[in-house]
Amino acid sequence: METAGQPALNVLQSIFGYDAFRHNQQAIVEHVISGGDALVLMPTGGGKSLCYQIPALVRSGTAVVVSPLIALMQDQVMALKQLGVKAAFLNSSLSAAQARDVEQQLEAGQIDLLYVAPERLLGERMLSFLERLPVALFAIDEAHCVSQWGHDFRPEYQQLRILHERFPSVPRIALTATADKRTRIEIIEQLKLQGAEVYLNSFDRHNIFYAIAEARQAKQQLWDFIQNQHANDAGIVYCLSRKKVEATAQWLSEQGRIALPYHAGLPAELRAHTQQRFLREEGIIIVATIAFGMGIDKPDVRFVAHLNLPKNIEAYYQETGRAGRDGLPANAWMAYGLQDVITLRQFMQDSQAPELIKRVEHHKLEAMLGLCELITCRRHALLAYFDEDAPEKCGHCDNCVNPPENFDATEVAQKALSCVYRTEQRFGVTYLIDILLGTDDDRIKANQHDQISTFGIGTELNATQWRGIFRQLIATGYLDIDISRYGALRLTEKCRAILRSEQTLLLRKQQDRKATTKAGKKQ
Ligand code: ADP
Ligand code: ZN
Repeated sequence: METAGQPALNVLQSIFGYDAFRHNQQAIVEHVISGGDALVLMPTGGGKSLCYQIPALVRSGTAVVVSPLIALMQDQVMALKQLGVKAAFLNSSLSAAQARDVEQQLEAGQIDLLYVAPERLLGERMLSFLERLPVALFAIDEAHCVSQWGHDFRPEYQQLRILHERFPSVPRIALTATADKRTRIEIIEQLKLQGAEVYLNSFDRHNIFYAIAEARQAKQQLWDFIQNQHANDAGIVYCLSRKKVEATAQWLSEQGRIALPYHAGLPAELRAHTQQRFLREEGIIIVATIAFGMGIDKPDVRFVAHLNLPKNIEAYYQETGRAGRDGLPANAWMAYGLQDVITLRQFMQDSQAPELIKRVEHHKLEAMLGLCELITCRRHALLAYFDEDAPEKCGHCDNCVNPPENFDATEVAQKALSCVYRTEQRFGVTYLIDILLGTDDDRIKANQHDQISTFGIGTELNATQWRGIFRQLIATGYLDIDISRYGALRLTEKCRAILRSEQTLLLRKQQDRKATTKAGKKQ
């Protein structure tokens, strides 16, 4: 008798054309083939699809793949068909006649892999239809969509637990590239996967070089980066707003690159067309909001650039993870500024989410900021966030290659913090800096803030340097942004020790304009 490994390897080689399994694909595939449940946590580009596609072909019956995105389904089915695999999808893009046709093929046992949207699968009609078929397995792709805390939450995903009750003997495999512990636990609970084998891969994307710089002339910084390192490469540039997407795409186009905007406000047809061009043509830059990316399988994206701060580390990891899926060197580059923090806080504050979720989001943003201001290895911190141990230094991020200089910032911090205090924690950064610099300003005079002790005491730094100090004080939790007061800064409990000179504070020395982006090389 053959072991499970042999037919699996055969399928891998003869159908998919690969020599060998990657990471722990083999163990996962064998486990599912033998009928076990599995939870697979693998970084983007790790090769999750094969983990269910191969068992689908080895086990008898139809494998049902739940997938949240219609575009993604269609791409996958098309790719499988090209390999000669009998695959189909059922979703709202099909006409009634087309759907009936797929159902007939299913009944005739002519389909090995069926991709289906969760809302479609969960209808009673579909469930009882499937009960009459031999189902090989259920694969639940993008399983983190069950998580209420995540940014891809889809309520219908939570109802997928019903599969366990209706099909107790059919193996289920849930897959995700989101790996924090909380999400992992939630997936197991929500999908009733307590008996599942958990396959946790390293989330290290060793071929990605991480670099984060403060934004000074962000557009120019971006252009220097692209021009010096990716003059002909495909890449993605993420921006927070649609307006900025449009403006940046336009600007890059003027510099001579093909740069296409992508955001949810553009017509669906145009978006689909843009996506196709990105996949098929070489050297295209997509400038996008976060609406772009999930499910885009383009292996040779050479860089992902952020012109704004992502709202949390999960998002940063996912978005940067779209670079270098082919395993070749790629860059994750970011320029961020204080305004990003204020805008994101504002978004969170204005959202309809319950208070508790807002608080979690707030903390997650703080962690993201922490990653930016870090003076030690980025990769170490990134992996630590996902509960993974990694060497203290990776040697392949900006901070490892070019350790940022510190300086004793106790005194300047005291000046900044007392300025906040003396103005009753009612003002934003720009105003505070004007006071520190002793700027002649009508509003300051009207408020009589030219009379307070901190007026003009900060002339040793310029406005940009002060911005950097405030940003770091916010990132490290000494100052807090009061969104209900238009971004006024407030002191936190942590400040006390500094104001009383009980603690010295080391901050990142303001870098010169040029940020490091690649091993040993200055832009
Ligand atoms: P994920 O869904 O985890 O992001 P995919 O399943 O799309 O990743 O796989 C990423 C890329 O790696 C795809 O181009 C896929 O064909 C390729 N791949 C997956 N497994 C292997 C393997 N064992 N050998 C070679 N290439 C592989
Ligand atoms: Zn490092």
